[in-house]
Amino acid sequence: MAEYSTYGSVAVLQVNNPPLNTFTRHVLQALVSGLERAQRDPAVRSIVIAGKGPTFPAGADLEELLGTAAAPLLSNLRMVDKHVDTCQKPIVCAIHGTALGGGFELALASHYRLAVPSATLSLPEVHLGMLPGAGGTQRLPRVVGVKSAIQLITSGQDIKAQQALTLGLVDKIVQGDLLKEAVSFARSVEGRPLEDRRISQRTVPDADKVDEVVEATRKTILRKARGAIAPLTCVQAIQASVLPFAAGMAREADLMTYLMTSWQAAAQQYVFFSEREVRQWSHPRDKHINFRTAKPTVIKSVGVVGAGTMGAGITISLLQAGLKVVLLEVNKKQLDKAIAVIQKTLRQKSASQKMSQLTTTMDYSQLSDVDMVIEAVFENLRLKKEVFRKLDVITKPQAVLASNTSGLDIDKIAAATKRPDKVVGTHFFSPANVMRLLENIYGKKTSAETVATVMQLATTIGKVGVLVGNCAGFVGNRMLGPYRSEALFLLEEGVDPQDVDRAIEEFGFPMGPFRMTDLAGNDIGWRRRIEARLTTEHGPPPDTPALYRRGDRYCPLPDMLCLQGRLGQKTGAGCMMLQEAKDDLTENIYIRFRTDGSVFDLRRLLAHTKTLEELILDLLFADDCALLAHTEAALMSHHAPSMCNRYDPGSRTALPDPVVLQMIQDYRQEHGFKKRTISSQEIVERCLYSLINEGFHVLDEGIASRALDIDVIYLFGYGWPRHTGGPMYYVERVIGLEKLLRSLETYSARYPNHSHLQPSPLLRDMVAKGGSLAALGTTDSKL
Ligand code: NAD
Repeated sequence: MAEYSTYGSVAVLQVNNPPLNTFTRHVLQALVSGLERAQRDPAVRSIVIAGKGPTFPAGADLEELLGTAAAPLLSNLRMVDKHVDTCQKPIVCAIHGTALGGGFELALASHYRLAVPSATLSLPEVHLGMLPGAGGTQRLPRVVGVKSAIQLITSGQDIKAQQALTLGLVDKIVQGDLLKEAVSFARSVEGRPLEDRRISQRTVPDADKVDEVVEATRKTILRKARGAIAPLTCVQAIQASVLPFAAGMAREADLMTYLMTSWQAAAQQYVFFSEREVRQWSHPRDKHINFRTAKPTVIKSVGVVGAGTMGAGITISLLQAGLKVVLLEVNKKQLDKAIAVIQKTLRQKSASQKMSQLTTTMDYSQLSDVDMVIEAVFENLRLKKEVFRKLDVITKPQAVLASNTSGLDIDKIAAATKRPDKVVGTHFFSPANVMRLLENIYGKKTSAETVATVMQLATTIGKVGVLVGNCAGFVGNRMLGPYRSEALFLLEEGVDPQDVDRAIEEFGFPMGPFRMTDLAGNDIGWRRRIEARLTTEHGPPPDTPALYRRGDRYCPLPDMLCLQGRLGQKTGAGCMMLQEAKDDLTENIYIRFRTDGSVFDLRRLLAHTKTLEELILDLLFADDCALLAHTEAALMSHHAPSMCNRYDPGSRTALPDPVVLQMIQDYRQEHGFKKRTISSQEIVERCLYSLINEGFHVLDEGIASRALDIDVIYLFGYGWPRHTGGPMYYVERVIGLEKLLRSLETYSARYPNHSHLQPSPLLRDMVAKGGSLAALGTTDSKL
């Protein structure tokens, strides 16, 4: 647990709790015993603490921290840190691997810190809805100042060794044998006074400006937190670092207790464990087919068909994971464009050698040897079937054929081949090299081996794979349908698009439905509706009631906007506005590429970027989703020609566009809608409850096997706010199933022709019988 050895006057304590050297109560007790022994031994004059195996302690053991043992674990951690801090013999931490959370806090409590160049430090507790509760919020600001501490703790970002050295968090970077260097370093500091080495005894460098700094950062934190309480609570704890150390520690402990007992922390911890649990998949129709029983085929090379937005992103993902890729495209110009994007992204990520794994072609015969193909051509069933027919002939018989369709029938696509058992859906999200979700869809005939292969592929390329069944839109896009419809019906009744967006964004989404479609391109949904014959390129189909399609309520407003050419970004007028927006944009937007920790000033980026399109590409291939969404939103509000919104030059606020508002007004009059005031609560309830209600249908039909699969899809693919745990968790644990049912009953009574507001039979049944979503489906423990 903590191995004790001595090298002359130096005692070395090596934490050994494989695989991650996490702190359990036992490990901490062993550490204290080792420290006491070293302190007692007169021959020992200094102490080194290190990690054995792949890493320095990577924080508290989560099973213990998130269970009933949380309080004793935390108090043990604080006790060890106090022991270390007040020790009369110098303590040197030798850091390699990842010193996270409690591990980093232990290092901060020590008197000296050495690190290897590849070491990473961070305080990521905020991602679990908590704060660094063993002195992290008190010691970090004493080294880096309140401003940087707020930034580091509220983002939970990684700090690379070199950056840690610059910030003063590490005293020396060691190139050679870390333990040997640490022992000799410890020997060199023996007998030196320790008072100025104890971080707890230092004062915060920018203490006199603490209120100013907190005030200046509060707005940004609030915006980024999107309703999460942990980041703001972290700020409160950091603010207390200007108090005497003991008082600050007491404040930190109080705030930690507050967070640990909050529903948000429980929700974020659920998210953390759900991300792991989705890997333990089982086939919704046959529980005997699962992650344990089904064996994946080894995939070393992948063909990607279609080098558009998705094809390029998918190729980058595959190359980054070290796979060989053959990228095929029928349009030469498009292929060149994709190559440029791929090259640029890989260059940014200093992985240009990966380009050698890429073959680009316009010739299908080049796919004859790949282990798998991912098709990403236009969303058109006829075209996809034609492509699969061709692939079936050209590729080797054992190759898996996957489609990146957003919602077309996998069985129909599979029927175009003689190997339906090898056909599967792999639904990536845009930008495909950034978004972590991979929704994998099995068809009627997809084999267990094929399912296992695409689930394994997700892990190989660093995505979160979720297995779902085949239906229009699968899980994610299917549930989004009612949400979008309800947002449109709200416009009919009197709300402006901005009101809907604001209410949804206040709930915690990075973008409301209208800004989102402005960004994605309004023609995507329009094309889908044309293909489904709900509308045509010239207007509603002949002899069709304006507000109904196939007996269901239909809002033609987005079709009308598309007919006017309001397709969003794709209409391309953005470049003209780039110049105007430059000054304001540069104010406070920085783009951080997480891979190398470097920061790009948007001012410089803009100066070197010739077109808006290029700039957006840079952003799309940045590696930080939250920031990406935020930056995209900011850019959108400056540049993008929009479906519903108008954006004044120099402003980031989406403003009502009088043309659109007038059009909606005329539409209301024409169809006899009476404008009424609608509260934010009603907007959120109608949009989100209808989405969640569809989730119950999805579970009922076995399209998703567990509620957590739906939650993971929404968290990793659709920007559902993490601190609420996902749609199904949120409704069960925060809203309550009974309240959901009553609200849906009220709304469906008011809007009997909005079919998606009719409560699902599963929901009714669960409320009647007192069932629970968590108990649905299988989990690892039951397999
Ligand atoms: P896109 O229009 O950007 O690219 C499609 C590419 O396919 C084009 O470059 C086109 O030239 C090429 N192509 C057409 N026919 C071809 C053929 N027979 N052989 C080879 N290449 C051919 O489209 P996209 O946005 O990348 O979408 C591709 C697929 O991914 C669609 O099924 C779409 O529904 C799905 N999808 C898109 C998104 C998104 O946000 N864009 C998200 C998830 C899934």
